[in-house]
Amino acid sequence: MKHRQLGKNKVSILGFGCMRLPVINDDYGNIDEEEARKQVRYAIDHGVNYIDTAYPYHQEKSEEFVGRTLQDGYREKVFLATKCPSWLIRSRSDMDKYLDIQLERLQTDHIDYYLLHALNKKYWDNYVKHEVFDFIKKAKASGKIRHIGFSFHDEYPVFEEILNSYDWDFCQIQMNYFDEEYQAGLKGLKLAGEKGIGVIIMEPLRGGRLAQQGLGEITEVWEEAEEKHSSAGWALRYLWDYPEVRTILSGMNDMDHIKENIAEAKTAEVGMLTEKEKGLINRVKHIYKSRIKVDCTNCKYCMPCPYGVDIPGNFSFYNNAFIFDDIEHFKNAYHGQMKAESLANMCQACGQCESLCPQNIQIIHELENVWELFKK
Ligand code: SF4
Ligand code: SF4
Repeated sequence: MKHRQLGKNKVSILGFGCMRLPVINDDYGNIDEEEARKQVRYAIDHGVNYIDTAYPYHQEKSEEFVGRTLQDGYREKVFLATKCPSWLIRSRSDMDKYLDIQLERLQTDHIDYYLLHALNKKYWDNYVKHEVFDFIKKAKASGKIRHIGFSFHDEYPVFEEILNSYDWDFCQIQMNYFDEEYQAGLKGLKLAGEKGIGVIIMEPLRGGRLAQQGLGEITEVWEEAEEKHSSAGWALRYLWDYPEVRTILSGMNDMDHIKENIAEAKTAEVGMLTEKEKGLINRVKHIYKSRIKVDCTNCKYCMPCPYGVDIPGNFSFYNNAFIFDDIEHFKNAYHGQMKAESLANMCQACGQCESLCPQNIQIIHELENVWELFKK
């Protein structure tokens, strides 16, 4: 297992994210404790020393599971990360309250890497209003947290604002070779690097989508490489190639994937990719991108829609169904994750949005296509 510096410690370049553990009967709140413990401990026994969880994962069961799993000497072998539930913070004292609950759930006296969870403009402004800097100072002074960082889900300018607002020890962003321009993206990764802030990557495989094997023309591209790797292996290697990336979190729940990722992490180095390999990754990215149906950049100039339609959200699910060639999955995700009042069929064809779109997308027509594909 290779390691990289993250704050004061050297962390394994592969971290274990405890947000998609094996569960019983497809019930997200019912962790298959025996299997999950076996997997997490196997990873630790084979060199993974960064374990990541958060207050809400697995319907608030993940932290307690991690606390139990790190008994029998495992806590001392790892750096533990968890996150402050930003959406629940209503006062300065709430931050202390949740940290203490988390320490108890995790059966530990300190968190090695504590993150403000899922920061966006709204949550950040709320933290500042409730004196988060005082919380950080005191929680660090008391030894309850060793490093402070944040995970991020908003547009790039917000990332820059937050990054420049405090002397962070680290940060966590979503990145993969397909999403270089999404949220903080590659630009955010570079900015953090310039400021000497180590970066943790989440969603390296885009929810597992980039790990799909056997995708015809994409498989043919990978076959041109002299050194052979799986689709997941290439996606991880793309990230490890960057010196700014210190660890990659993978939400692993399959022993074969854990073994495969650990094997990849044994050989990964900064700058390991050849020009040819970078070219192959770029070609695969463009194959995926060429399947995009609606060229929406998520700029949101068209928003808000007076009738509540989430225009870019609709296009995102629609595009993903074609990019990853899985209409059924994205149809279910569309109805499961979007609010009913923001779906494409809510469009009243008022026309307000179309003249605002810099991509000149025929939004009304395309929303009709979205509904045609996804209607139940
Ligand atoms: S045309 Fe449809 S999507 Fe556009 S603003 Fe009007 S109702 Fe909303
Ligand atoms: S303005 Fe156009 S490109 Fe921007 S989010 Fe709306 S539909 Fe997408």
